[in-house]
Amino acid sequence: MNARPIHFFLTIALIPIALMVSGFQPVRYITVRHAEAAFSDQQIAVTEEAGRLYIPLDIFSEKTGYGIYTNEQKQKCVLYIEDEKATFTADNPFVILNERVWQLPWQPRWREGTMQVPVALLESLFGENNTVRLRFDREKNLLTVSKAENVNITDVAITPKENGTVISVRVTDEFEKRDISTKITNGWFHIEIHGGKAVESLAERITPRGIISKVEVIPLEGVVSLAFRLKKRIIDRDITLDPDKRYIYVSLRTNEKVAVETRNEAALEKQKREWLIDTIVIDPGHGGKDPGAIGKGGVREKDIVLGVGLKLGAIIKRNFPDIKVVYTRDRDVFIPLRKRTQLANENRGKIFISLHCNSNPNHKARGFETYFLGADQDKNEQARNTVLKENASIQFEDASERERYKGVNFILATMAQSAFIRQSQYLATTVQSSMAQGMKPIGLHSRGVKQGRFWVMVGATMPNILIEMGFVSNPYEAGMLKKSATQMKIAQSIFEGIKKYKKDIEAAI
Ligand SMILES: [Zn+2]
Repeated sequence: MNARPIHFFLTIALIPIALMVSGFQPVRYITVRHAEAAFSDQQIAVTEEAGRLYIPLDIFSEKTGYGIYTNEQKQKCVLYIEDEKATFTADNPFVILNERVWQLPWQPRWREGTMQVPVALLESLFGENNTVRLRFDREKNLLTVSKAENVNITDVAITPKENGTVISVRVTDEFEKRDISTKITNGWFHIEIHGGKAVESLAERITPRGIISKVEVIPLEGVVSLAFRLKKRIIDRDITLDPDKRYIYVSLRTNEKVAVETRNEAALEKQKREWLIDTIVIDPGHGGKDPGAIGKGGVREKDIVLGVGLKLGAIIKRNFPDIKVVYTRDRDVFIPLRKRTQLANENRGKIFISLHCNSNPNHKARGFETYFLGADQDKNEQARNTVLKENASIQFEDASERERYKGVNFILATMAQSAFIRQSQYLATTVQSSMAQGMKPIGLHSRGVKQGRFWVMVGATMPNILIEMGFVSNPYEAGMLKKSATQMKIAQSIFEGIKKYKKDIEAAI
């Protein structure tokens, strides 16, 4: 049994991406204090704002003794918890845990000179870590932080299967098969883990499901027994360890099919709904003082994209009345880039579609293309110019707003988006190919799917794409794009692509 360092463990949609990009230098911080934390239950007052709960990180550090480093100027904090290091930046959904970047649905914020961190964020940081336990008392608005006992069994999950049930035991030390034995006594199935350490209260956090009606955790000297009350007779059991030795799996087989409990189905339903494409954000680029590209005969990008955007929204509403359509702008106004994704996130958009038109000094350049925010930006000059041209929109933003872009490392941001890159790429593909089909009859040409680093896509916590619908610098395309009939055809084709994406994604859940 070898001790292994405890890792922060984030669950659900947070997919880690190691920083492998050459040339990236992580910022170095000085550890101000690195106390061996030993504390009894501590209570921290929670503040609530817009339904979100926050606690000040400096108070957390003060009460627990965990080290903290604060850079007030950059509104950045590093929290040191035993071997772990978490870096938070105010108003930034990216958190760096050790050398990994995570994108979060919650952002830390800066208030009265201190970093305030959402309770939900801390909960997910400590969710499967055996160092610290958090309990929130909603009535008193108090968060209780306790130092956990010295344990190496941190969680147990029960998953009903068609002909039995799987018990997954999460461990923070390495166990071998020989450390584990099982037995059945008086209708209880016991898993005994030699060298296992757990607290009795762990049982309270385990939901009995499937053929298991009750769970008990019995810590003994040098061994821990996990006891499961059986509803059905089991005919076989099997122990496996996952290759990383982070879990012990025990599968119990019965000789009959067990109906999955309705309660589980309800939970599953709820989880499924989270993934449904029920909100679509349409982002017509530019607007107001930012005209975007200006083409032949004074055609303005901002007018074309608004026309297509409104038509696309109307088509979505007509075909899927239950889908909420959110426009980042529905008239000729200027909206800073950051505000656009912020609005999308606030509305819990499931996809974000940014609409633009291209231009090029070469008036022969033609065609439409769809971008997703990928790490491998297309190297060709045209794609690079497109990115530069669209990102130039920030020149219309005021100085303080512009300043904010400087702090964001594009590689980091792109990596942190990785949770959505695959879906964004798929959405880009379905939209581009349905456009290719729809546009062919009117002589518009497909340039394919590309990757680019567009500011407007940074920070969107959902799959997102950017469509360059054609070149306003090309006389033929400029003439076409300004026509309402063409805009309608484009909107219809984009819609078909979204429809296919929605169908495929929803079929997969
Ligand atoms: Zn544009």
